[in-house]
Amino acid sequence: MPAFPQPFTSTVSHWQETNRGPTSLWSHGREASLPTEVVDYVIIGAGATGAALGYQLSRAGAGGVGKSIVLLDAKDAASCASGRNGGHVAPRAWAIFPILMAPLEKGGGGLNAEQVLDIIFFEQDTWIWSSALSKTRDSRSTFGVDTDASPKYKHRKLDWTVIMDPAEAKRVSRINDAVACNLVPSGSWHPHRGVTALLRLALESKAANVQFFSWAPASGITNLANGLVSVDCGPRGIVTARQVIVATNAYTRHLLPETQDLLVPRLAQACRVVPTASYSGPESLSTTYTVREGPYLIQTPNSGLIFGPYPIIDETEHVFNVEDDSIITPGVGAWLDSWCRDHFVNWGKESAGEGLVHHWSGVICHSADLRPFVGAVPGRPGVFISAGYSGHGMAQLVNITRGLVNQLRTGQWDDAIPRSFALTEHRMERARAEAVHPLDYEKRGVTLKYFDGTVSEEVANL
Ligand SMILES: Cc1cc2nc3c(=O)[nH]c(=O)nc-3n(C[C@H](O)[C@H](O)[C@H](O)COP(=O)(O)OP(=O)(O)OC[C@H]3O[C@@H](n4cnc5c(N)ncnc54)[C@H](O)[C@@H]3O)c2cc1C
Repeated sequence: MPAFPQPFTSTVSHWQETNRGPTSLWSHGREASLPTEVVDYVIIGAGATGAALGYQLSRAGAGGVGKSIVLLDAKDAASCASGRNGGHVAPRAWAIFPILMAPLEKGGGGLNAEQVLDIIFFEQDTWIWSSALSKTRDSRSTFGVDTDASPKYKHRKLDWTVIMDPAEAKRVSRINDAVACNLVPSGSWHPHRGVTALLRLALESKAANVQFFSWAPASGITNLANGLVSVDCGPRGIVTARQVIVATNAYTRHLLPETQDLLVPRLAQACRVVPTASYSGPESLSTTYTVREGPYLIQTPNSGLIFGPYPIIDETEHVFNVEDDSIITPGVGAWLDSWCRDHFVNWGKESAGEGLVHHWSGVICHSADLRPFVGAVPGRPGVFISAGYSGHGMAQLVNITRGLVNQLRTGQWDDAIPRSFALTEHRMERARAEAVHPLDYEKRGVTLKYFDGTVSEEVANL
């Protein structure tokens, strides 16, 4: 059954609320006719993945130069996860190293240490590149962790500092129950404005002919006998392309049924908190946060803090397989509402208008083996995908899409992307056979909790 049109009214995020002026792309191409001639590329989905693909394909020197590129979205640009997230661009693989290495049948990623290092360095590179792209880098604390024992990474350093002294951890973090903390490079962006900016740059490209049609839900993808691929947009028409890229994240199973149970939607929530006077002005927080068994948070320039809760707070059947982002769970709201008061040193009394002021939800895409699905879709010539970031796309997708665009140009996998992200028939079969469905709690030996200071022997010996 198609996911769109949706039979509910979505919540509105802070990001959607603060980007709806004339230069935003709300309703762009909503009334326009879809092209009837064959186009080179159709990108389905105009979240951060689709927008980054459109942007990168339309740069001078990229595979889309001189080509026609059509972006389709079932709703407005960035109206799903990308416009409703926590805005945190934070490398995370270092924190879930043991989980990525745990066996699939325990709910882990089934990777070896070197494959996890591939992801860690990829995320580090993504952050460097994203910050260059968005110029919103807002924190950096760099110390080297020696990885010389891994031949592949002999000359690379991890930016990672561990503070194990509780008093120092509390002073640095301003969290009253902190016992240790890690400092890693990370940052944030306004994801709705970011997606809009990428789309605008794509639309303005002189190198490629880019068109964007909002409110054009695709209901099916068909490989045609002549080698082309058609995308059925129901009453809006059919677009035929040489290549199609599926950037529909949590909704992918509706277009590619073979990803059912491998790419699983999961409801997540985020909120905005106005800090008290003791956390404003010169006393403002100066970094982004990822709190173990707590939320993550970023600072906006003028509107306070954005919080996103990690999965530990709501690992239930009420969140997995849920695509309804009109839902706000009161328990999550109450937990987020009290979090600053309970944990920040001297947070102080909240005046009216301070504390939690806005709460919304969105749908992330849980990947069965905890890694995104990237590249050519097996059994579907001319169809490509980038989806399934397990709630962590901002730290990965700009670099993934850059590599995917190279693959579209050369026909070869771009080794700048971790090989373990490549979608293959074997990977899908293995995940189907071995991975634990997120609803099978009793079978899971690991959960997406964060690094607790203990590392496996294999990692410690790297
Ligand atoms: C509450 C929340 C907090 C999060 N916090 C963070 C964070 O702080 N840091 C981080 O790294 N990640 C975070 N994430 C995850 C991050 O938002 C996603 O990984 C990322 O946005 C994925 O981008 P995307 O473009 O692939 O997917 P989406 O933004 O979901 O875009 C998919 C697009 O495809 C369109 N679409 C779907 N089906 C069709 C169809 N059939 N036809 C046409 N269009 C279709 C949708 O309308 C949508 O616009 C969070 C997610 C949520 C929900």
